[in-house]
Amino acid sequence: QKDKEKFAILAHQFALAYRRIKLYKDIETLAITDGLTVLATRRYFLERFDEEIKRAQARKIKMSFLMLDVDHFKMINDQHGHLTGDAVLKEIGVIIKENIREIDIAGRYGGEEFCAVLPDTDLEGARVVAERIRKAAEARTIKAYDAVLRITISIGVSTYPSDGDLPEELIDKADWSLYRAKSQGRNCVVAFGMYHPPDPAALYLAVFVEPAFFFG
Ligand code: GH3
Ligand code: MG
Ligand code: MG
Repeated sequence: QKDKEKFAILAHQFALAYRRIKLYKDIETLAITDGLTVLATRRYFLERFDEEIKRAQARKIKMSFLMLDVDHFKMINDQHGHLTGDAVLKEIGVIIKENIREIDIAGRYGGEEFCAVLPDTDLEGARVVAERIRKAAEARTIKAYDAVLRITISIGVSTYPSDGDLPEELIDKADWSLYRAKSQGRNCVVAFGMYHPPDPAALYLAVFVEPAFFFG
């Protein structure tokens, strides 16, 4: 009985601390999660991208980057309104998530542009993943409010280390590839390395001077 008051004070303090921790966690989640698509925000994505490049550098492994853009998305907004457009973006977030691994990081880069980092993945592996996402988007019937829609996406791919070793370089090369995919007629995947194979001299140096990079 005599400790009852002390216990009540302690319980109250515990409840306050718990609420503070929960609030902190909620704010953290809000800061790193895009509200519409539940993918990483651009800022958080870029932080993780940086970390993954450093990890790939340290472990001497490859990694790839995808830049994805919805084809003719403006038409969806114009014909069905922005709310429907938003619902489509949300579904694209789901499609991307469904077609990557747990360790891959997907983000919303801008309005209707998405991005993904694929650790430990070379150009060929990245093309397979990108094609899987592209095909899944093409096959999906999206129901949004009163509309039943089909969309396609174009994807640009870049790979570390052959296309660069800074996030900016990889973003730039994937962007170039995405632009190329758009000009090829959209709904396709273009990898920077398809048009810019590694310099034979650099390849020679990599294979014979640092074979561990290629052969583990
Ligand atoms: P392209 O095939 O060349 O990519 O054509 P596009 O129409 O998709 O390209 P563009 O970049 O011209 O248009 C993107 C549109 O995306 C314009 C903008 O109104 C719309 N958009 C950007 N962010 C959002 C968003 O958060 N919600 C909605 N509903 N629309 C958005
Ligand atoms: Mg765009
Ligand atoms: Mg677009």
